[in-house]
Amino acid sequence: MKKNCLDIVRQKCESCNGCALAQTRHNVVFSDGDASTARIVLIGEAPGEMEDETGRPFVGRAGQLLTQFLTEAGISREKDVFIINTVKCRPPENRVPTDEEKAACRKFLNAQIDIIKPEAIVLCGATALKSFKTLDKKQTISKVRGQWMTIDVDGVEYKAITIFHPSYLLRNHSMEEGSPRRLMQEDLRNIKETILGDSSFSNNIFAGNNLTFESLTTV
Ligand code: SF4
Repeated sequence: MKKNCLDIVRQKCESCNGCALAQTRHNVVFSDGDASTARIVLIGEAPGEMEDETGRPFVGRAGQLLTQFLTEAGISREKDVFIINTVKCRPPENRVPTDEEKAACRKFLNAQIDIIKPEAIVLCGATALKSFKTLDKKQTISKVRGQWMTIDVDGVEYKAITIFHPSYLLRNHSMEEGSPRRLMQEDLRNIKETILGDSSFSNNIFAGNNLTFESLTTV
């Protein structure tokens, strides 16, 4: 059922010309992961060069590092996590997507969340976080990462947490206490224990209302 719904949204996404990124993309990067088993949705920023070539999110160096961190924390990329981005087409030169591009693509992001109905959403980096929360100047990623919060997606509340983007960790190799890589390990273990460690945890499983998906399929 989830796969069928996602396929319908994917088809619409693959023919989308909703923003200027359609003119320079090679592939729409829709998602990665098993919709039937994933209990977590992980949202990154935007596809990069490798992702644009392959049509899969998080497959470049940053993605490989993310997979390594997930595996070390006992989180299966294939089974536990459904990976998406705030925009589905690569911004030229890997620039940050604009507010207009994110707004144009938001219907696909919301529909994916609505179909998966995850028990938790992991916001990977500042662009993903700012898509759901307004931050003041003091609220840097370093300060807000690792804290559970609630985010609203089309009127449905989801448990969410922010982690560093793995591209930031590619530039920070230290494994010292308090270093970004050590904090990433702590955050992913927290996610593993909170969401996957207790099979009775069922927050949000039935929370979605399919409104986003239905609005897309009736356009
Ligand atoms: S980024 Fe999103 S809105 Fe823009 S063209 Fe790609 S699929 Fe459409």
